[in-house]
Amino acid sequence: MLMNAQKNGVEKIVCIGTDPLDSLAARDFAAAHKNVYWTYGVHPEETTKAGGVDFVLPKEHLPVAIGEVGLDYHSEGYFRDAQIRLFEEMLQLAMDNDLPLSFHVRNAFSDFFAVIENFPNVRGVVHSFTDSKKVLKRILETTDFYVGVNGLATYSTLPTPPLERILLETDAPFLTPVPFRGIINEPAYIRNIAEWLSEKLGEDFAKIEQETTRNVENLFRI
Ligand SMILES: [Zn+2]
Repeated sequence: MLMNAQKNGVEKIVCIGTDPLDSLAARDFAAAHKNVYWTYGVHPEETTKAGGVDFVLPKEHLPVAIGEVGLDYHSEGYFRDAQIRLFEEMLQLAMDNDLPLSFHVRNAFSDFFAVIENFPNVRGVVHSFTDSKKVLKRILETTDFYVGVNGLATYSTLPTPPLERILLETDAPFLTPVPFRGIINEPAYIRNIAEWLSEKLGEDFAKIEQETTRNVENLFRI
């Protein structure tokens, strides 16, 4: 997959952690491969796995971000209070280590905005954005966050953020872009999302490459 990514012009990859153990697997993978970075996070749907865990970042091979973290009220039986508490803890961890965050927010933007108000200098990306035009506008106007665009954009009617705020993302194994829908998603297909974006925005492919690369390097300092 890494070779296929490289063949398709994807030179740097951020491997996302979704719970404490999974994050350490991401770290080991990143440590063993050139131009692969990792994040430390607990996905909101994994909130119960985080009970009693001390969030201590390793001293070597530091993560480039804290995430996925956030709020997800999509599935019934979610623990709203516990999710908010964990999210605040993760925001503080990011602040303490001067790291950006990868936010996962689903059906929970009003709580999300309320929580981040208490962390004014926070940097991050709202990954896999799937909400309304109105919510997108609020993100763009009230925060400096980037917005994650993935394969979903190629077969839906989601609002498109301006190029200077876009991070391209895989979000594997699902959300494979057109024309590869139905098979496992992989980083190489970032090229197809960039091609779609080029057409959608009426911009040269080279410009899409340049800007989205600059955005990701800027946020993660890679
Ligand atoms: Zn997510």
